[in-house]
Amino acid sequence: MGIEEKLPSGVLLSTVEGLAGYMRKASFWPATFGLACCAIEMMTSGGPKYDLARFGMEVFRASPRQADLMIVAGRVSQKMAPVLRQIYDQMAEPKWVLAMGVCASSGGMFNNYAIVQGVDHVVPVDMYLPGCPPRPEMLIDAILKLHDKVQHDTPFGKNRLEQIQQLEAEALV
Ligand code: SF4
Repeated sequence: MGIEEKLPSGVLLSTVEGLAGYMRKASFWPATFGLACCAIEMMTSGGPKYDLARFGMEVFRASPRQADLMIVAGRVSQKMAPVLRQIYDQMAEPKWVLAMGVCASSGGMFNNYAIVQGVDHVVPVDMYLPGCPPRPEMLIDAILKLHDKVQHDTPFGKNRLEQIQQLEAEALV
C-alpha cells in the first residue's frame, strides 16, 4: 500500500522548499532600473490601470539590496554592462532577472559594437520577454510565468551557479 493510501484524506504534503517558493512568488521586490523605452511600459504596469499590485509587487525598490527582481527594461550598452552586473551582485539571494523586450533579450535591432547582444552575457536570465516594446499585459504575463518558475525551481540551483561562473570565466563582466 502506498503512503498516499495510508494517510487520511485532507492531509497536505509539501516540502519546506515548495512552501518557501509558494510564498516567494507572491512577494517580488523589483529594483528601480530602467534603461530605455521599454522602461516606460514597465512603469505603466505599476500604475492603477494595469495594477501590478494585484500580484504582490507594486513597490519598486531604490536600493538593489532591498530588491530580488531585476527587470532589464531596454537595451544594455557596453558601458552600462559592468554597472548592471554590479547592481545584480548587490541584490540579495534568491534573486531573479527578467529580460524585457527584444533589445534586452538579444540586442534586437541594435546589432552593433555599442550594445550587448543579450543581457544574458552579463547576468543569468530567468525569463525572456519578446516585443518592442512589450505591452504591460505582456510584462504581467511574463511575471506570472516567472511566479511558476520561482515556485518550482531551486533558487540556488546548480545551473545558476554554473551560469555565473561561466560569465565570469568569459570575462564579459
Ligand atoms: Fe526600445 Fe523596443 Fe528596444 Fe524596448 S525593445 S528598448 S521599446 S527599441
